[in-house]
Amino acid sequence: GMNSNDLSFRNRFASLGEAFFSRINPEPLPDPYLISLNPGAAGMLGLDRRDLDAALIDCFSGNRVPAGAEPLAMLYAGHQFGHFVPQLGDGRAILLGEVKDTAGSLWELQLKGAGMTPYSRSGDGRAVLRSTIREYLGSEAMHGLGIPTTRALCIVGSDEEVYREQIETAAVLARLAPSHLRFGSFEVFYYRDQYKPLEVLSGYLLKHHFPELKDEPNPHLALFRRAVGLTADLLARWQLVGFSHGVMNTDNMSMLGLTLDYGPFGFLDAYDPGFVCNHSDHEGRYSFDNQPAIGRWNLTCLAQAMLPLFAKEPDAAVEMAGEALDEYEPAFMQRYSAGMRAKLGLSMSKSEDHSLVTDLLKIMENNAADYTRCFRALGGFKVEDQGRSCPAAYEFADREAFYHWGRDYAARLRGEGRGDEARERAMNQVNPKYVLRNYLAQQAIEKAMHRDYSEIDRLLKLLSRPFDEQPENEGYAALPPDWAGAISVSCSS
Ligand code: AMP
Ligand code: MG
Ligand code: MG
Repeated sequence: GMNSNDLSFRNRFASLGEAFFSRINPEPLPDPYLISLNPGAAGMLGLDRRDLDAALIDCFSGNRVPAGAEPLAMLYAGHQFGHFVPQLGDGRAILLGEVKDTAGSLWELQLKGAGMTPYSRSGDGRAVLRSTIREYLGSEAMHGLGIPTTRALCIVGSDEEVYREQIETAAVLARLAPSHLRFGSFEVFYYRDQYKPLEVLSGYLLKHHFPELKDEPNPHLALFRRAVGLTADLLARWQLVGFSHGVMNTDNMSMLGLTLDYGPFGFLDAYDPGFVCNHSDHEGRYSFDNQPAIGRWNLTCLAQAMLPLFAKEPDAAVEMAGEALDEYEPAFMQRYSAGMRAKLGLSMSKSEDHSLVTDLLKIMENNAADYTRCFRALGGFKVEDQGRSCPAAYEFADREAFYHWGRDYAARLRGEGRGDEARERAMNQVNPKYVLRNYLAQQAIEKAMHRDYSEIDRLLKLLSRPFDEQPENEGYAALPPDWAGAISVSCSS
């Protein structure tokens, strides 16, 4: 019943004052029904499937505002494809407030697709079922891979029609994050020349999310440096797993270093460093290999917005920002190199490792070898035969190119003093067997459009354990079918 199972809400962000948001209630969703509940995130909040009665579904659809919630749309600005837009804000997401998990930590609960807000501009404030499924599965796949991300709690659907390129139906995604604050949350006030709200926002993050930085000599600068470090770490993790975000605008960059706002994202199938997952990104600004540099570019925007907080004297503030930004590339490289060594099963660090990695990536690119399958299969490499029996060879049309590289790899592995089996076990913990290939999400979407939600739940379960062999799901680790290349994802995804 509603009294025993209702989540207990509060909203600390609402106490910051009206400058930071607009109060707005969710728009009721006609005749809502549950499409999928994520048992992992639900369990974290102390909920299970049996608790999900009509009252709770009414809460997650936006039909009922639970006690303690203070619904609002957050204000932000952002650089979109390199161009500054002075005011954006949640145009289709509504923050209900914060809920406590079983460990006592607070999570913001947002309803994405909950209707129009003062920031909606032209849109209808709704999300289509297709896009909620993509975010739901995408964010939980990232969580399963150990990559910082917003979480997904449930999808509630309705037969209400929504028009995009075609007629689709509406759905609401309930998502969770410790905070949804973005780089753009700072940019909006900097460009309005409003110093005080900048200080309030920074203070809010320091108080609730980075209390260990509060006693630093310059806490605001320490917060920015933390954003630099977290972003470098996040980008390294994206590159290592072959994740393309698709819309790395500064309004989609989390102050907590989370993967945020899943739209036309994609995991690499064939390794292609120039991969552009967003069909609306004609210039390839957010191509796979541009992502780390865009991370730094976005941090430069954040630095600009936070400058007045660093020092009174502008030249001094610029120098501080520059020094902090200079930490990005070494932090990224350190994390990426360490991650690549782990993917190759190298426990030591040697000078030749860099070329071993770039040589492998080069032959993968030349052969359009599958990124996930290649690294996974590399676990079966035997030093003794220099990779002649390694299943990774089958991922290369030019098998000799792999065997040639295998001689260098075998030579490098000989200096490691770790046996084949121990190395394979370690590699299987960092090279996933299963990722959310675009076509897998598409299959779940097509079934859902026919009211069969089983594939969503099946993928959710599969992707919660991406490093484990799951023999009953072997097909999900196969090469994508030919039709996969024809799927188009754009910003409306
Ligand atoms: P996104 O590309 O999802 O990060 O969205 C960019 C901006 O457009 C954000 O401010 C969104 O809130 C807004 N937006 C996206 N879709 C809609 C929609 N259906 N209705 C209103 N605003 C939207
Ligand atoms: Mg306001
Ligand atoms: Mg966004």
